[in-house]
Formats: sequence, structure tokens, C-alpha cells
Amino acid sequence: TCGICVEKCPFDAIEIINLPSELEEDPVHRYGENAFALYGLPVPEPGTVTGILGPNGIGKSTAVHALAGERVPNLGAHEIDDPGWEPVLDRFRGTGLQTYLEALQAGDVTVARKPQYVDQIPKQFDGNTRDLLERTDERGVLDDLIDRLNIRPVMDQEIGSISGGELQRVAIAACLARDADFYFLDEITPYLDIGQRMVAARLIQELATDEGTERSMLVVEHDLAILDLLTDVLHVAYGEPGAYGVITDPKSVRGGINEYLKGYLDNENMRIRPSAITFEEHAPRVTTKGSPLVAYPELSKSYGDGEFELDVEGGTIYESEVLGIVGPNGIGKSTLARIFAGSLEPDTGSVDFDLDIAYKPQYIEIDQPMRVDVFLSSITDRFGSSYWNTEIAQPLQLERIMERDLTDLSGGERQRVAIAACLSKDADLYLLDEPSAHLDVEQRVRATTAIRRYAENHDATVLVIDHDIYMIDLLADRLMVFDGEPAVSGHASAPQEMRAGMNDFLADLDITFRRDERTGRPRINKPGSQKDAQQKREGEYYYSA
Ligand code: ADP
Ligand code: ADP
Ligand code: MG
Repeated sequence: TCGICVEKCPFDAIEIINLPSELEEDPVHRYGENAFALYGLPVPEPGTVTGILGPNGIGKSTAVHALAGERVPNLGAHEIDDPGWEPVLDRFRGTGLQTYLEALQAGDVTVARKPQYVDQIPKQFDGNTRDLLERTDERGVLDDLIDRLNIRPVMDQEIGSISGGELQRVAIAACLARDADFYFLDEITPYLDIGQRMVAARLIQELATDEGTERSMLVVEHDLAILDLLTDVLHVAYGEPGAYGVITDPKSVRGGINEYLKGYLDNENMRIRPSAITFEEHAPRVTTKGSPLVAYPELSKSYGDGEFELDVEGGTIYESEVLGIVGPNGIGKSTLARIFAGSLEPDTGSVDFDLDIAYKPQYIEIDQPMRVDVFLSSITDRFGSSYWNTEIAQPLQLERIMERDLTDLSGGERQRVAIAACLSKDADLYLLDEPSAHLDVEQRVRATTAIRRYAENHDATVLVIDHDIYMIDLLADRLMVFDGEPAVSGHASAPQEMRAGMNDFLADLDITFRRDERTGRPRINKPGSQKDAQQKREGEYYYSA
């Protein structure tokens, strides 16, 4: 082997699995002969927010079942029915897990958790938001959580009728309202805007450091800027999703994320990706633009009796550019996407783009009982060509799910199929509304690369709405910034250069980013820190040099 492949040889030569040294030991848990095996466990620590960074399907839930005492790890001896805790305690004696596992075995650990796919909650719960939250109020702080997470407006609404972002905040409140020793939150950011992500992060940190308590927080998160801000210590997880997963010993948050981006884990001496992920430290050079694809005039749109009003500055979109669209939730981004896509008429101004537009909406409804391959081949006759495979199927990891039914897909799988369906269309303009939702970090990077490469190879113009600042940084040539008052009024700027756009956007959020000295990766500044104050004075919120 050439030594760089973890998953699959990028040259498609052979399946290579570069066995890490841990795999020479027994796993912590194995489901059965030739079944998934988990190596390593995260270490819950009182007063600490511990993060896990890694792909889906790598054993995070398996690890949490063990740490919640719901399944005694079998240390690989899957043929033994009830192995008991003794061997596990022996295995982890003298490690950071010893104290925790002893308390767990003694029955002294209570667990609260937030599930990954909040969209499933309405299927399990009948009633309104108030009914759901009241039964979780074990610490007597529910009112404060409801206010800070801005849940009050939906308290009397049925759980089945609230939006994804509202459901996410309700689920976070329901978990944090409990009085537990160990909290596990499986992704906090899907459907939330950056301001809401920061509030959720703050609440988790406050609970960890709540005086006189010994609470451990464990968080899986794929938004790297938030993971960086939120956690005190980090485990990287890697392996072959569905086959085996390794959870590393704890690393510093900065070091762990840097190693992850570099694609190489220092302590483990392990390459997890052939190439590094890098960021633009300086605003991209003001590039010579292509020819204009389309110009649109000032537009406006209101709903109902002016309950929500959107106004849009006129602007020009250029050929083969990727235009990022950022702004808080409830501000009119999807409304503009629908106007551009031609499915919604503006009240003033008119958009008659003589263009073919491919549109991936925010909430994906592809629920026909149809196989993925049948669905995708109905969209493009290039389906299955080597060209389509390299450009779309491989980077979006569709091979393994081709024969599954659309209705059986997980959130992340459905997202990848929807991105593929959008890019497979022959269009002049591609519109992607929140493509990062439900993708793990690795999938975001692959999807970003696929979208960028597609735009370059096809001179395609792409509009991407997203809240993941790393994804926007990697993708966009220019930015359109929304501001205003969510659910009341929204204003969309004309497309701007990255530097001006980031400054506008982040000034509105009151957040500045500094650069990691080693990698140039953007990191959120502590509010009120010297760097934060200086950058605000200088008006440089993102590209500080
Ligand atoms: P993650 O939380 O990282 O997405 P999970 O811990 O849920 O991953 O699952 C890891 C792997 O273990 C998956 O491939 C899953 O199919 C497999 N797995 C989970 N539960 C079982 C089980 N009870 N029996 C056999 N395999 C399982
Ligand atoms: P964003 O995509 O920025 O989150 P949207 O464009 O989806 O924002 O929504 C902006 C505002 O308009 C929100 O307050 C939303 O509730 C409201 N809204 C969206 N669609 C409709 C509609 N069809 N009828 C009435 N109000 C709507
Ligand atoms: Mg939207």
C-alpha cells in the first residue's frame, strides 16, 4: 500500500485499510463476528465539555450506550452473553475512565441526551411544546432556557407543527433542563443560525461549570467553528464507517482540530485523509469576473398582511461564480431562493431569468418509495457514466446507498442524494439551500469540493445558503448578506466581495474571528478579548491581515 489511504484508494485500485496500531488490541465492543467494532472510548470529565470530531457511523452512539450503562462493552468477546463490568474496569484501570466507570457500575450516573435527528421527535411525541418541556424541568431553570433559546413563541404549538430550527432548540432545552451527571448532545447546530448556535454553546458551557455540581458534557458536533468555541477537550474519531471506529485519547481542542484538518493524527501516527484542508487567510483577490449571467432589479415580497417583509437590493450574478448567502434564520433567504427559482412571485420588481435553474430546497422531501439509483437515473442520462461517477457519486459517497429506498435514508444520506440530484441537472444556475445540514465534517468537505469543482468544470453558477462559516469560506467567491429582524423584516444586500461581505455579516452578529497561527484556520474570538476589541475598532471581522 502507498500508506495514505484509510478508506478507499483514491485511484480506485484496491480497497486498502491502513490498520492503525489500536486495531492490534481487542476492541472495546464488537457487535458480532465481522460486525462493527469500536476501539477506544471518550472520557467524561466533571466540569468539562468534551467534544468528539469524526464521521457518522463510526461508533459514537455505541460509545454513549456504554457510557450510559445501557450496554456492557464486551471487549471484543461478542460470543459471551453477559460479560459484566469487571473486565471493563480492569481494562480501564489507571486511565482517565476509571473513576467514571466505577461510578457507573455503582449506579451513580444519570444521563440526559439530545438525539441527533430532531426531525424524528414528532413521531415519538404527541402534544405541544409546553407539554414536552414541562416534564423535563428537573433543575427549575426551564423559564430561563425558554427565553434564551427563544422558544416562548412556540410554547403552545403542536410539536408536529414547528420548524426544524425550533425543534432543535426545544430538544436542546429538554436535555439541558434535566438534572443529570452525564449529558450527551449528538449535534446541536443543524437548522440553527450562527447566533442560535452561540447561545446553545454558551448554555452547555454554563451547565458544565455550574458551581457545586459535577456534570460532564459530551458533544458530537460537525460545525468546526462552534466545536472549537464550545469544547474544552477533544477526541478525534476515525475509521471505516460501518466497519470499525477508533476514538483517540483526548487531545487539546486546537491541536485536535488542526490535526484533523491536516489529515494526519500526530500521536496516533495515522493519516486519515490524503490531503489537508486549508483556508483563505486573506480576502481572496478581487477576481476578474466572468460575464454577467443575470441582473435583477430591486425586489420586495411580503407575506400575509405584511407580517413579514423582504426587500432585496438589485444586483448582478456572474457566470461561474459561487455566491454565498448568509444571514440569520427567519430573514427571507429561502424566500429569495424561491423567487429566483421562479416558484414565488415578488410583489414589486420582477425576475424573469431566462435560465434553467436547479434548486435544492432546505427541507428535503423525496419520500417516493423509489430506489436511489432509479431516482437519480430519472434525473440525468449521464447517470452511471464514469464522468458522473467521478464528479458526483464518489465525492458524495453514493455508491453504498444506491440500492436503498429513498424513504429509508438517514438525514445525511438524504442530503447527499438531494445535492447529487441538484448538481445532476443541466442548468445555468444551481441553488443550494443549507447543503451542510446533517452532513458530518468529512462529508461537508467532500460536498464542498464537489460543488466547487462542478462550478469550475461546467462554468456553472452556484448560489449556496449556509450557516457553516467554514463551508462558506471554502466555497464562496462573493457574499450576499441578509440582515433585519427575524420573522418581521429582512433586507438582502447586493452580492459583495468576501471581505466586505464577511465584515457586514459578522458586525451584525458582533463576532470576530482570529487566525490559528499554525494553520490559518478561522477561530471565533472571545467576546471582549483584546483581539476582539481591536478587530472591531479596525472593522476587520474576518480577514484580519
Ligand atoms: P455513530 O453514532 O457514530 O453514527 P453508531 O454507534 O450508531 O455510529 O453505529 C456504528 C456502527 O455500528 C454502524 O455501522 C451500525 O450499523 C453498527 N451497529 C449499531 N448498533 C448495532 C447492533 N445492535 N448490532 C450490530 N451493529 C450495530
Ligand atoms: P430564512 O430562509 O432566512 O430562514 P424564510 O424566507 O424561510 O427565512 O422566512 C422568512 C419569514 O417569512 C419567516 O418569518 C417565515 O415564517 C415567513 N414565511 C415564510 N414562508 C411563508 C409563507 N408561505 N407564508 C407566510 N409566512 C411565511
Ligand atoms: Mg431558509
